[in-house]
Amino acid sequence: MDDANPAGAKCLEDDVIPEGHRGPLIDRCQPSRCGNSIVAPAHLPIWTAERASLNELLATPKLPPNRRALLKDHLSEVDLVIRKAGP
Ligand code: SF4
Repeated sequence: MDDANPAGAKCLEDDVIPEGHRGPLIDRCQPSRCGNSIVAPAHLPIWTAERASLNELLATPKLPPNRRALLKDHLSEVDLVIRKAGP
């Protein structure tokens, strides 16, 4: 990310940026949607492990609907990242 021109940084969009802060806000990173993110094939193992973990959680019976919806949202973000890194 270019500090002088952060346009397109998803972590800074529509958010309150702490005064004096420069650079990305890592805890708000959206690698599936940000043009600044670099997702390479070397990163795939961690993302595929995350997908497997989410699918395992989603297989839990009697998961509260709001929790299930949150997990499904996260899973679709992870799928986007995996597609971005794929061949
Ligand atoms: S890749 Fe993540 S941390 Fe970097 S600019 Fe984009 S959203 Fe922010």
